[in-house]
Amino acid sequence: MSKKELIPEIYVYCDRWCERCPFTDRCEIFDPVDQEKDSAKVDVNEFMEELTAKFKETMDLLKSEADANGMNWNQLVADAKEIEIEDPVLPIEHEEVVNLAETYRRQVITWLAVNSKEIEETTIKHAQNAEMGIQNAKEDNAHFIDALEVIQWYHCLIEAKVRRAISGLNDDFEEIQNDTPQNHANGCAKITMLFIEKSIEAWRQINGEMADQENEILDHLAALSRLSRKIQKIFPAYIAFIRPGFDTFII
Ligand code: SF4
Repeated sequence: MSKKELIPEIYVYCDRWCERCPFTDRCEIFDPVDQEKDSAKVDVNEFMEELTAKFKETMDLLKSEADANGMNWNQLVADAKEIEIEDPVLPIEHEEVVNLAETYRRQVITWLAVNSKEIEETTIKHAQNAEMGIQNAKEDNAHFIDALEVIQWYHCLIEAKVRRAISGLNDDFEEIQNDTPQNHANGCAKITMLFIEKSIEAWRQINGEMADQENEILDHLAALSRLSRKIQKIFPAYIAFIRPGFDTFII
């Protein structure tokens, strides 16, 4: 693949769901090997060793940079330990949107855990229906599983991207750098809105299959709708942000 074909920074405003991405061949960070790895088979010790080696490499690099610039490394480390990092104080509206995204994430984790048996029973029911030759049973199952995957994929990302969007909005440096709609905060808000839309669609699909879960599912939908309204209010220009690749190419 030639470098010319790559789309700069396409990976900054994507959902990292490479398996489903139409731009894998134009993304600088896409790694087909990662896709083949079965995370369940990753050796934990090997992973920890790799992580430790990378950490050491980084520390060595920082130390040599400090030495090269005439700084006392031990003093820098001692000073760093003294620094107390305080959480930034956010405007109430910003605090609320972050809390809402966190609440939604927690709700979903609980729902998936509490209802794992019922979810399994629903897929078994579909499989049995398919075996009996009932029309659309196979497709229904595929849609149901897909909806669950969507919920699982996005519930944490929604919170992560909301936090990033809000911190971009409260970071004077970022905003001074770019006060047009094409700034990082709007980019994060835009993909968060996409994740929310996909999640709403997925919950509707699940609701069609798990009718007795209607009240819980309505809670999730209400949380997502509130989140969506707040994001639109805080980031009124988010829609104008152009995502590299996704908004610039016709797939
Ligand atoms: S742009 Fe596509 S291939 Fe690249 S990281 Fe995002 S999802 Fe994966």
